[in-house]
Amino acid sequence: MNLNGIGYDCHRLAPGRPLILGGVEIPHDRGLEGHSDADVLTHAVIDALLGGAGLGDIGEHFPDTDERYRDADSIALLETALTRVVAGGLEVLNVDCTVVMEAPKLGPRRQEIRERLAKALNLPATRVNVKATTGEGIGFVGRREGVAALAVASLRNR
Ligand code: MG
Repeated sequence: MNLNGIGYDCHRLAPGRPLILGGVEIPHDRGLEGHSDADVLTHAVIDALLGGAGLGDIGEHFPDTDERYRDADSIALLETALTRVVAGGLEVLNVDCTVVMEAPKLGPRRQEIRERLAKALNLPATRVNVKATTGEGIGFVGRREGVAALAVASLRNR
């Protein structure tokens, strides 16, 4: 039986912060604000995994009130989440995700992000898909106030 999970996250853009997406730092004049490294894409992927496994959400596993997770490397959190999913007798089949961001263009770094996420998920890069779209100039994404990300994960019992 396949189990599916969805994930959604958004973070605010602010000056003086790095822009990290899927574990890859993207040069930009602003970055994402948050308790951890605010890697919005990796957070959506974590929630998709936890959702598929019936293990709650990222906030339960890695509370943003916990000093241990201040400026945390979200890829390390993803690896921990995967460990918990695997401990539950499950394996991840694939992950698909979308970054919703007005600028910069993600295209040139898309393959790198895909490979970084795939490595953390212990999957071949062909099982991890990374897409990007814009906010078409409307809403918080379109006004460049923030970045959103969505992810779905498919899992099955080992
Ligand atoms: Mg987040």
